[in-house]
Amino acid sequence: MLAVEHLSHSFRSGSENTPVLHDIDFRVDKGEMIALLGSSGSGKSTLLNLMAGLMKPTSGSILISGQAIEKMSENRLAEFRRTHIGFIFQSYELIPHLTVRENVELPLVFQGQRGKHRREKAMSLLSKVGLGEKTEMFPSQLSGGQQQRVSIARSLITQPAIVFADEPTGNLDTKTEKEIIDLLIELNQTLGITFVIVTHELEVAKRTRRVIQLRDGYLVEDGAWAGDAE
Ligand code: ADP
Ligand code: MG
Repeated sequence: MLAVEHLSHSFRSGSENTPVLHDIDFRVDKGEMIALLGSSGSGKSTLLNLMAGLMKPTSGSILISGQAIEKMSENRLAEFRRTHIGFIFQSYELIPHLTVRENVELPLVFQGQRGKHRREKAMSLLSKVGLGEKTEMFPSQLSGGQQQRVSIARSLITQPAIVFADEPTGNLDTKTEKEIIDLLIELNQTLGITFVIVTHELEVAKRTRRVIQLRDGYLVEDGAWAGDAE
């Protein structure tokens, strides 16, 4: 599903060169749910953005469904992202003047799909994330947790091969965080969605079966949660 091979990345500005990721290597199988754990500044968002094709790595390769995304042209990559990759942001990134349902439909609008078809898919996903009653409301009328549910539904509407989430519960209180993680686990188990979830919270990482840990841009741990030792 996903293979990250010898991935390194540096940020350049002028003569400054800041290495951020060093020779990262791992694979994710279909249906896995993975936490990408690490303290602030360890390189989690950079790694996620590279895997989601939002930027190009300095070296190494990222394969999604067998295709090396860093080799794709801009147009091809944009098309690939629209059809194969879902992304969930910490800050939801909903469009305020569109209804909940229209927000969820938006990726299909970009694919040129017809109205009735889009609407049915959006309604079905919104009921799966527990928002079947809120479809005609606007984002500002919802709580943070509900807005993140909208964003989760939107990330799934294209039936992506893999969904990346960057600190999806970072703006939420502990109780709502738990509800959102419960939802992601349920979607993983019932629909077989492959999730890679960035978090700096142990409580989130503990609930996934596999934890990949970054420290200062190095992959230092990859395996089942090993308890509270650290
Ligand atoms: P995390 O998500 O784990 O907090 P990031 O991937 O955001 O970490 O950042 C890793 C390191 O890369 C940090 O030292 C950060 O300052 C640096 N960094 C991130 N984005 C940029 C950028 N666009 N330009 C320069 N440095 C960056
Ligand atoms: Mg980050």
